[in-house]
Order: sequence, then C-alpha cells, then structure tokens
Amino acid sequence: MILRSCDAVVSGSCALHLLLPANDTAWFPSDLDIYVSCRFMTCVTVLLEREGYRIVRQHFANPNPYISSSIHSVISFSNMHRSIDVVVSNTAAAISPIFEFHSTAVMNFFTSDTIFCAYPTLTLHLMSMVNAEPIYFGPSECKAMAALQKYSGRGWQLVACQEVHESTGLCRSMPQSIADCSCLWINIANVQCVAVTPRDVFERLGIINLIWLLGGYVCGACDPFMRGQSFLVEDNSLDLLGGGFRRQ
Ligand SMILES: [Zn+2]
Repeated sequence: MILRSCDAVVSGSCALHLLLPANDTAWFPSDLDIYVSCRFMTCVTVLLEREGYRIVRQHFANPNPYISSSIHSVISFSNMHRSIDVVVSNTAAAISPIFEFHSTAVMNFFTSDTIFCAYPTLTLHLMSMVNAEPIYFGPSECKAMAALQKYSGRGWQLVACQEVHESTGLCRSMPQSIADCSCLWINIANVQCVAVTPRDVFERLGIINLIWLLGGYVCGACDPFMRGQSFLVEDNSLDLLGGGFRRQ
C-alpha cells in the first residue's frame, strides 16, 4: 500500500532475497529499506506513522560538490519490533540511489507489483561487478568496502567485465538504461519476463527512463577511469503548462 501510494520501491537485501533461489540464500534480510523520492517524503512518513512506526533517527547527506549522490536523507523508523530505513532521493525518482551502489549485486528493487534486476545474467549466478564510484568518491569508502566483503563472504564472486562481457553482451564502458532488454522485469501479478518500453517505465515509476554508467576503469584497460553516473529522463509535461504548476 505504502509502495503504491508513494511511488516507493524496496531495495537492499530484501529485494535480493526475493530474487534469488532459496538454496542460495542461507541468510535472512535484517532490515527493510524503502526508497522514495523527496516529493513523497511526507506521504511515506504519514503512512508509516499510521502503522505505528516512529522516527528514531534522521540523517541528512552532506552536500558535497565532489560526491555525486542522489541521497537526500535517510530516515530510520521503528515500531519497537521492526525497523525500517527510508532512503529519500533528491531526484524525481525513488530509484536513483540504487544505481550508485557499490556493486551490481544490489542493483535490484521491487515495487508493489514488479521485481526489477539490472544484471540478471550476473546476479542470478551470484556474480557481481564493482561500481568503483562509492569506493573512490563516496561519503564512506570503508562502508562500501565492508559491503563488498560481506557479499564475498556469502559466496558472491566479483568478476571483471572482460571475463563476462562476451556472454552477457554488456560492457561496463557503455551506459545502460532500465528499459534495456538486458534488465529483468517480472510482473508479480502475472509472472512473466517483459521487455519494457518508456511508456511501461512511466506507468510503473513515474519517470521516462534512468540511464547509468558504472564507475571504474574502462573495460580491459587500467588507465582511463570513468566516474559512475546516473541520469534521469523525467516527465516534463508540467513545464509545458508554464512555471506556475508544481507537482505535489
Ligand atoms: Zn567489458
């Protein structure tokens, strides 16, 4: 209900747990991470408080021109039994921060009716590629390294792009988009793999597309280094009506 009415998604270990076969996941997700755009921050707070949750901590990301981060703030809620972290993005899309994570293993999310996996050919085989952006430029490089170690402890294999790009048809040196057919979208209500169009993406997430590039060395070389980036293609229809209109 909260996911649908606030255009929110669930990512992190819960999304991964839902995606992987049960015999690959001897661990259980410890907490629930909900991602929401800053436009819906009040909406999600009101709905969680109605469910008996209270805010226990709010952490604002430091504005730093050298760090590209789509995270506006993280609000921690608790109802004494369970805790929920709400990650608020500073863009029009809840999902922007997901494409700045430390590795491809965690670039997954679910909405109220769909599951998304950015790298199914790697993720479903417990393989992942590093996104060097948070390691070199993130607010906490130790945290990103610890997260990578946690995944390797759970049997994940870190692969170099040139080992897998022939079989996956994907190369880290090329930007990717959530509407690419290499991504997996599963409609939970009517289980099937679907190739999505910008129209489908708009219906599910309220944006037209999101394009990202993993940070790190250009595939096969160890000299040119690219900054990781994510770029949102937004719905600008309200601009056509003049400056007086604002969504929300
Ligand atoms: Zn490559």
